[in-house]
Amino acid sequence: MGKQRHSNISIFIPHMGCPNMCSFCNQRTISNSSAPSPREVGAMLEKACEQLPEGRSEIAFFGGSFTAVDREYMTDLLEQAYPYIQSGRVRGIRCSTRPDCIDKDVLKVLKNYGVTAIELGAQSMDDEVLAANNRGHSVDDVLTASALIKEQGFELGLQMMTGLYRSSPEKDIDTAEKIADIHPDTVRIYPTVILKGTRLGELFESGEYVPYGFDIAAEICADMLEMFEQKNIRVIKLGLHASETVEEDMIGGFYHPAFREICEGILFRREIGKRTETGGLYTVRVSPNAVSKAAGQKKCNIKYFDQKGISIKICPDGTLKNREIIVKKDE
Ligand code: SF4
Repeated sequence: MGKQRHSNISIFIPHMGCPNMCSFCNQRTISNSSAPSPREVGAMLEKACEQLPEGRSEIAFFGGSFTAVDREYMTDLLEQAYPYIQSGRVRGIRCSTRPDCIDKDVLKVLKNYGVTAIELGAQSMDDEVLAANNRGHSVDDVLTASALIKEQGFELGLQMMTGLYRSSPEKDIDTAEKIADIHPDTVRIYPTVILKGTRLGELFESGEYVPYGFDIAAEICADMLEMFEQKNIRVIKLGLHASETVEEDMIGGFYHPAFREICEGILFRREIGKRTETGGLYTVRVSPNAVSKAAGQKKCNIKYFDQKGISIKICPDGTLKNREIIVKKDE
């Protein structure tokens, strides 16, 4: 029903009779996902709040389209969450929904119940890609809903996917740029995972949908991560989080439990590459928690440079943060 991750209290609200049939979604075929009752949610919040530091966590309703579920059920859930906001035991309530399920009325309800952040599943900013994947909404819907959410003072999050049916690396990058132009507070990037029991699965198995390779997907996502960071937009998720469903039901596409680290490793590799143009021995200093990212998954960056006659030694340096690096050629 729900679980704690980091300092958030996440409550999974499943499909709930969603009328859409997005190409990548398998909620229609998942039989064991039943919606939690408001009473169950109340009990879960009480238990979770006892274990979490006061005022630092958020309650997150995620999974389905929160504003598209039965309105009475939605407000019953919010009734359970509201007291925690009022008392200051949690610092926010966030929910995720579809761009075509946002209007002024529902935003007013969310505001009254103390919701602080709304995330929209934009997925693509290309109408042809949206239509090919049966999203049932347009790019205009994303723009309109985003403007309304910002206007009403909510934190805005946008979610996008890469490698969808009929997309391309160029279209993915274009989507990221259009999303950045909206200036959301946060972004989640999900490389497409092809699940059993989905339209995408059928297209994949018939050979109609050929996803591009993992390396290309990782390079594109690294480009996007860098672009969003340069624009001060926080990328709060890169890659699907590990779950049994994904690992059991995946039949293709891009999934790796450490996908973000792979993308960050690519950015380190590019940066080190710019500063080690001639062969030899180099010391690369990075922040202590970036040592393994700089070395790359299974030390792939070290091997990559080795093949070019460049030997790099990575050392932790407490004065550096994030992806700052200092490169020195050893005499
Ligand atoms: S991904 Fe699409 S089909 Fe699945 S729950 Fe969301 S809107 Fe409905």
